Amino acid sequence: MTQPAFAARVDRALADPDLKRAIERTTGTARSKRAAAVAAWPDFAAARELGRDIKDHVTANLDHYLLTFERNATAAGAIVHWARTAQEACDIVVGICKAAGAASVTRAKSMLGEEIGLPHALADAGIERVETDLAEHIIQLAGDPPSHIVWPALHKTREQVAALFRAHHHDPGALATVAAMVASARRELRRRFMAADVGISGANFLIADTGAVCTVTNEGNAELTTTPPRVHIVTAGIEKLVPSTAHAMSLLRLLVRSATGAEVTQYTTFHCGPRRPGDADGPTAFHIVLVDNGRSRMLAEGLAEMLRCLRCGACLNHCVVFRQIGGHAYGGTYPGPMGAVLTPVLDGLAGTQDLPHACTLNGQCQEVCPVAIPLPTLLRGWRERSWREGLEPGVVRGSLFAWRFLVLRPALYRPATALALRVMRLFARRGWIARMPLAGGWTRHRDLPSPARQTFMAQLRQRRPSA
Ligand code: SF4
Repeated sequence: MTQPAFAARVDRALADPDLKRAIERTTGTARSKRAAAVAAWPDFAAARELGRDIKDHVTANLDHYLLTFERNATAAGAIVHWARTAQEACDIVVGICKAAGAASVTRAKSMLGEEIGLPHALADAGIERVETDLAEHIIQLAGDPPSHIVWPALHKTREQVAALFRAHHHDPGALATVAAMVASARRELRRRFMAADVGISGANFLIADTGAVCTVTNEGNAELTTTPPRVHIVTAGIEKLVPSTAHAMSLLRLLVRSATGAEVTQYTTFHCGPRRPGDADGPTAFHIVLVDNGRSRMLAEGLAEMLRCLRCGACLNHCVVFRQIGGHAYGGTYPGPMGAVLTPVLDGLAGTQDLPHACTLNGQCQEVCPVAIPLPTLLRGWRERSWREGLEPGVVRGSLFAWRFLVLRPALYRPATALALRVMRLFARRGWIARMPLAGGWTRHRDLPSPARQTFMAQLRQRRPSA
């Protein structure tokens, strides 16, 4: 039993063959590259344990590392701001842009920016936003939200991208190859980089002992976003803290291999304060907005392990549900298994309680997570809470109460299951059930195999009468 809005999004996604093709193209490549990178790294298991321990240590000492980071970043010339909520974070960023008289800002990809609704806040303030990551540029032209945390335009085929560039770029050229499309985007974005008043980026790591902000990209767009404008604003979740550069590098090795299967990102940049006398370039003002937005509540509500998340996307690429429905069907900022854990924190459980159920609990996500987040356990926790808070539909609660009544009374349960098997077999044709009254949800998108003639217990008794 799913909420109508979620069911409608899933139905739309399942009915789109282009979407399925686009998802499989990208996630299939990501899975095989990650597998090769992990196989080529004999110490992967030990590195994973180290990564988990670094993140848990920071979470357990968050207050200490936050204050250390603030002190060192301020000493390096940064202005540090604290935001408890998404609204506060947006107000701070918009306020800085207005104070700088900004008409146009460039933005390097940041899922936190999406989480706090920064694109809408900038639009409401009348400030033009230019997304500079290639995939973000594509979805900005399309008017879509991101559908993956690493490849936001994963839902677009290259044919659809060529059509978008043809419609929106000033000088698109022939666009016959991917290289020609990249060249067209580069021509389009170059002049925007140079004209921006403010550059906004996220952070992959906040390094406490130096006050530096580390960002990693593969396109170099973050450097062009953060260097030419007069003002640079970093928005970062408080879970991005690490004690030192060495700790950041240990996590970076895990992040990159898990995200793209590469050994290192093309660009790894450290921002430490604004331009100093003698520097050739760089912003004259450097702001860091530290965002909580539910993170300290996660600590209090038994979700501390989720604060380990590096946003690598491996759990999405390996999720059998995500690979069928893509990211938009989840309806929140973060899709896939990590999104199903985070969205109820960000948007509230009432209304998002379907997400923890959109999971087979096969454990693949936990298996590939570079910091060993027990995603299935966290999802089960949300399911239990949804039950306790009475959010499950009445028919589900009623059915489970009926099942509980029967299962506690074997003398009733056994004949009831035997009868259910018989009824199901009445609908089977050539070994498959294509349609069954009161169970349309089970057969709408696939056929069910016909059940065995006898229940498991009846078969066991027949084979081992003494059992
Ligand atoms: S939960 Fe783990 S696998 Fe998923 S994005 Fe976060 S770090 Fe990567």
